[in-house]
Amino acid sequence: MNQPDLTIVGGGLAGSEAAWQAAQRGLRVRLYEMRPVLSTGAHLTSNLAELVCSNSLGSNLPDRASGLLKNEMRRFGSLLLECAQLNSIPAGAALAVDRESFSRQVTDRLSSHPNIDLVRAEVQELPVGPTIIASGPLTSDSLSHAIANLTGSDLLFFFDAIAPIVTAESINMDIAFRASRYDSGDQEIGDYLNCPFTNAEYDLFIETLLTAHRINLRTFETEIEQGVTAGQQQFFGGCLPVEIMAGRGQKALAFGPMRPTGLIDPRTGRWPYALIQLRQDNLAGSLYNLVGFQTNLTYTEQKRTFRLIPGLEKAEFERYGQMHRNTFLAAPVTLLPTLQYRDRPDLFFAGQITGVEGYMGNIATGLLAGINAAYILQGKQPIVLPETTMLGALCHYITHTNLKDFQPMKANFGILPPLNSSDRIDRRERARQFVERAQTDLEVFIKKNMDE
Ligand SMILES: Cc1cc2nc3c(=O)[nH]c(=O)nc-3n(C[C@H](O)[C@H](O)[C@H](O)COP(=O)(O)OP(=O)(O)OC[C@H]3O[C@@H](n4cnc5c(N)ncnc54)[C@H](O)[C@@H]3O)c2cc1C
Repeated sequence: MNQPDLTIVGGGLAGSEAAWQAAQRGLRVRLYEMRPVLSTGAHLTSNLAELVCSNSLGSNLPDRASGLLKNEMRRFGSLLLECAQLNSIPAGAALAVDRESFSRQVTDRLSSHPNIDLVRAEVQELPVGPTIIASGPLTSDSLSHAIANLTGSDLLFFFDAIAPIVTAESINMDIAFRASRYDSGDQEIGDYLNCPFTNAEYDLFIETLLTAHRINLRTFETEIEQGVTAGQQQFFGGCLPVEIMAGRGQKALAFGPMRPTGLIDPRTGRWPYALIQLRQDNLAGSLYNLVGFQTNLTYTEQKRTFRLIPGLEKAEFERYGQMHRNTFLAAPVTLLPTLQYRDRPDLFFAGQITGVEGYMGNIATGLLAGINAAYILQGKQPIVLPETTMLGALCHYITHTNLKDFQPMKANFGILPPLNSSDRIDRRERARQFVERAQTDLEVFIKKNMDE
């Protein structure tokens, strides 16, 4: 192949799917993968689409968020999903695969595609011409610099630190109260839910937080801790893990994210000793995140420790806090929901570098970027999928969230627009209605906008 129509950087999950989608639509694709010439530190083989950790691609049940996403991807002929099914192993309702045979099959299918030229080399600069960057959470240093030169270094992050998210219905509203820190005085309509602590509750919470088990950081992730020790907080965008902050002094949190200033507990008529604020996390108001509570505790310990927070005794965790080495863009200000870079329409990003999380979500963004790259090269309009579909909602979320609150997001029902019905319905019925709406809207959209 002399001159490709499209260059794709990264033969991981997103890049492999993108290559397939574009090649199937007739584009000549050059796919660059740096392994085995240069390793990421986490991948172990030279196979394309290697699963670096778990071998589960999440639920296959059609009424789960991950199952809905899979069905949308099936509709678009996802190669990776097909290979996953062909290499699946028994795992109940989940789609788990034999990782070796899965990634080998993806490698074979892509290497033997007449429209794909697989090149094993590190790309150090942003290619000229139509390009998809799918270099993942462990993007090589040179390419990271090139991307940071394009975006500005404040719009490319190297670590993520995520606070836990709980469901609204599991918060005890007899204890939690609504109020904003700096609101106009009407405490009834504050944007935040506040969980107030007495002195004794605070002391117990801090002691538990400090002694709870933490997840062992992998070698390359110890840079995080070294960064903290050296006071290099630029890695975090100011987001220290809460257990590290707590270790700086008994009252460090009471003067930091847990300060009660100006927030009157309606039960006592006074400021509490300390408090934790919960901020609404989705449009539907069904999810709340613990403000400032980025953490690296194990999931079991998060559940035990954070259920000590008054008002969260029975909290259901939609997502646990996590910390990772993760190269990702400030997508809300750099990307469009088509996955095009805002200032360069022939440049797409896909996979974890867009701020999407989870194997399936990352494959799905590769799928969309591949389709849209083909569309613009064929003189068609790139597509923005309906927000009511799981893939459309993911792309909408990463490109529309307030940048201040932006952290990687996986497929979940909380990011879908609320249902029209005002009736109180249980979780299962809500999921059923989300799925039905997504499927209907996707079919209408495809009929109207695509010749698939
Ligand atoms: C240690 C670790 C564990 C994880 N565990 C899980 C998990 O259990 N479940 C889950 O859902 N997600 C997990 N993730 C996140 C996971 O990486 C993503 O879900 C998924 O692999 C991202 O897909 P991607 O295509 O964006 O990146 P990747 O699959 O990582 O693919 C990116 C590819 O780009 C290549 N590359 C990088 N830079 C260059 C360059 N300059 N030139 C050419 N090629 C380049 C890399 O070698 C890699 O093959 C984990 C991540 C890490 C780092």
